[in-house]
Amino acid sequence: MFAELNQLELMLQQAPKLVQSQQLGKVQLKTQQLPVYAIEIGKRAKDKPVLLLTGGVHGLERIGTQVLLAYLESLCARLQWDQHFAALFDKVQLCMVPLLNPGGMALGWRSNPQHIDLMRNAPTEAVEKAAFLLGGHRVSRFLPWYRGEPGELAQENQWLIAYVRKFFQAPFMLALDCHSGFGRTDRLWFPYAKTAKQPIAHLAQMYRLQQLLFQSFPQQNYIFEPQSRHYLCHGDLWDHLYDESQQYHQIFLPLTLEMGSWNWVRKNPFQLLKSHGLFHPVKPHRVKRVLRSHLILLDFLLHATAAAPDWLGTVGSAQQQAAEALWYSKA
Ligand SMILES: [Zn+2]
Repeated sequence: MFAELNQLELMLQQAPKLVQSQQLGKVQLKTQQLPVYAIEIGKRAKDKPVLLLTGGVHGLERIGTQVLLAYLESLCARLQWDQHFAALFDKVQLCMVPLLNPGGMALGWRSNPQHIDLMRNAPTEAVEKAAFLLGGHRVSRFLPWYRGEPGELAQENQWLIAYVRKFFQAPFMLALDCHSGFGRTDRLWFPYAKTAKQPIAHLAQMYRLQQLLFQSFPQQNYIFEPQSRHYLCHGDLWDHLYDESQQYHQIFLPLTLEMGSWNWVRKNPFQLLKSHGLFHPVKPHRVKRVLRSHLILLDFLLHATAAAPDWLGTVGSAQQQAAEALWYSKA
């Protein structure tokens, strides 16, 4: 076992009643079995919007899991005394899979123990040219960004996809998957990763969500954009789940948080010598700052999900035009 998994299990033992957990499966690693937990706050109901938070998809990116654990800790504490806050969960359901790839995290690998990059492994193909290697490949299991063999879906992804599917009946679902390692600034990416030409069907709703975020918290400096502005890849989990959700009468807005780690490295070049190198802040005060700064975002997403029936009604052609001009114009 390792720190994040221990911390999670300890928290679940002491959690208030409203916080329920289950194991989606167990990853076998040598003699150890490492469980993948799903945590739910608020009862399931057909008419309830759902917020899904995931992390630890890449085992090296421990900070993503730590951000979610910090949020869970805060939620558990608050539910003990704040009845007004607890009542929010009559309107919204929160689901969290904070550590999808415990085998990878235990090994200190990006991939799962079978060398599969879980974010290149979903059954979806890039429409245009994917980035070389980085965009997912089948050259060798021993190079990073390996997709898995054709038709091979990693067990961790099978568990997550089956779990997320249960919520496609909900009227609205928002998701945030926490990663680190790209660029200097914190980014919020949305699909597609498979094409730069075709926007998602709910581009206008995505635009409205970013407006709500920046209007409510003007001091935030996230960059909000389609992932395809940077590179294209095969097998993106959220591309796949988004497309699958289209069969239902649901609006599903999946986001990926890419915490800009190059800044941590710039401030501490020796960090490159550590095994977690680019993917985790080393200095404790920097870890604390990262954990603290994203709590505002997570809280915003929770409230935006609960209030979705109200703000979705105000989305129309104005947002669609603004979104296309901002994210998809050639100029
Ligand atoms: Zn990642």
